[in-house]
Amino acid sequence: MAEETIFSKIIRQEIPTELLFQDELVSAFRDISPRAKTHILIIPNKLIPTVNDITQEDELVMGRLFTVARKLAAQEGISDDGYRLIMNCNKHGGQEVYHIHMHLLGGEPLGPMLAI
Ligand code: AMP
Repeated sequence: MAEETIFSKIIRQEIPTELLFQDELVSAFRDISPRAKTHILIIPNKLIPTVNDITQEDELVMGRLFTVARKLAAQEGISDDGYRLIMNCNKHGGQEVYHIHMHLLGGEPLGPMLAI
């Protein structure tokens, strides 16, 4: 069994975090240490530690991450100017929290690349 992270507590609302979105599959909230004007994390409610752990069974939830990202980008008013979606995997990818999450970044020009 993978070990829970702080994100499981956020999903269960055991620590005070403004949820921007939650349904039966995914949750979304603002990154505590924003790297752009808009910096939102979209995560599966199910604990999947890394991208390496995604299975075929997870295809629905992985697709939901994208549809929620699109919806939140529209809500933030950044759809037309554009934004970036990032998922870090393991050490070389710079992953810090071992509960997969999609970073939604935008609201300003992000440059050619971004270390998250
Ligand atoms: P990563 O490096 O891809 O694993 O990103 C983890 C992200 O989670 C970082 O951008 C952190 O700022 C963010 N983070 C960590 N703890 C919290 C928290 N309690 N609430 C919101 N964001 C968090």
